[in-house]
Amino acid sequence: MSKAFHGAEFCWMNGSVIKTEEALVSAMEPIYLGIFEGIKAYVGGNVLGEGGLNIFGWEPHIDRLWRSAAVTGLKIGYSKEEMLEATRGAIKANGFKTNVYIQPRIWPKAGTGRYNASEFHVVVPIWKFDTLLGNDNPRFGEERRYVVSSWRRISSDALPPQVKSWANYANSALATREATRLGYDGAIFLDNRGFVSEGTGACLMTVRNGKVITPPVTASILESVTRGRFIEFVEEDLGIPVEVRDFTRVELYAADEAFLCGTGYEATPITSVDDINFGNEYPGPITTKIAEHYSRILEGKVKERRDWLTPV
Ligand code: PMP
Repeated sequence: MSKAFHGAEFCWMNGSVIKTEEALVSAMEPIYLGIFEGIKAYVGGNVLGEGGLNIFGWEPHIDRLWRSAAVTGLKIGYSKEEMLEATRGAIKANGFKTNVYIQPRIWPKAGTGRYNASEFHVVVPIWKFDTLLGNDNPRFGEERRYVVSSWRRISSDALPPQVKSWANYANSALATREATRLGYDGAIFLDNRGFVSEGTGACLMTVRNGKVITPPVTASILESVTRGRFIEFVEEDLGIPVEVRDFTRVELYAADEAFLCGTGYEATPITSVDDINFGNEYPGPITTKIAEHYSRILEGKVKERRDWLTPV
C-alpha cells in the first residue's frame, strides 16, 4: 500500500466493527488461500449532499467477490446486503470525510480444513487515501516508463486471473520486481498466447487513431470493474469508439496513447513501453478527457452515472 494510504482506526471483522489493532488472528491462518476486493468510496457533493461518501461500483465489486468465493470454495456466510452494512459501519465508525479504500478479505479459518474449510474469516479493513491520480493531481502527468515483462500473465487453466485471490499477486510481484530491477516504473504482461494482457494491478487501454482499444477478458485479465465502466462511458458519454480485442506487442508500440485503469490506478497515463514513446503528446488528449470525465463521475457530478455510486 503506498504512503498516500493511511490505515483506519476501525474495521469490521466477523460480524462487528472493532478497532483495527484488535483485529488479530493466529499465525497459523492459511491466508494464502484468501480472496479479496479493492473498492473505493469518494467524497461527492451531489448525491448525498456536501461531503457525503459514495462507493463506486459496489455491485460489480461485490458480485466479483461472490464469484471469487464460488470458484475457490470459500463461503462468505453473510449476504451482500450485510456486507454493504458492514462496510458502511466500518467507514462511519472512523468518521471519515475523505476518500477511502475498502478491502473486504475472506480466508479459511485455521484448523477448519484448509482446502475444504468449513469456517472463514470475513474482514473489511479501511484506508484513507488522497486521490492519487486524477488529472487535477500534479502527479497525473508524471513520466511513467513501462516494460513488457518476461513473466507471462497467469492463465485461466492454471490460476484464473478472473478470481481476485492473493495467490495471483505473486505473479504481479515477479513482474514488478523485474521492472524495478531494470529501472522501469512498471510492467505490462503478455498472456500465455503472446497477446497483450494487463498491468500488475490494473487493466490497460490504448488509443490509436481516435479509438480506445483494450484486451478482452480472455487475454488473462482480471474482469476489472473500472474497465467495464470505462468501456460503457467512453463510448456512450464521450462518443469515443471502444474496441475490445486482442492486440500484439508491436501494435501496443504503435499506440498514440496508453493508460492503466483500475480502482487503485484510476486513470493513469503511461509514457512509453520498452522505451518506445506513445504519440507526440503526453498525457494524451483522449486519456485526459477520459480521466476528467471519470473524476466527475466519481464526484457524483454526472447525473446519468449516479447509479454507479452507492451512498455510505
Ligand atoms: N487487474 C489487476 C491485476 C488488478 O489487481 C486490478 C485491481 N483490482 C485491476 C486489473 C483493476 O480492477 P478493478 O477495476 O476492478 O479495480
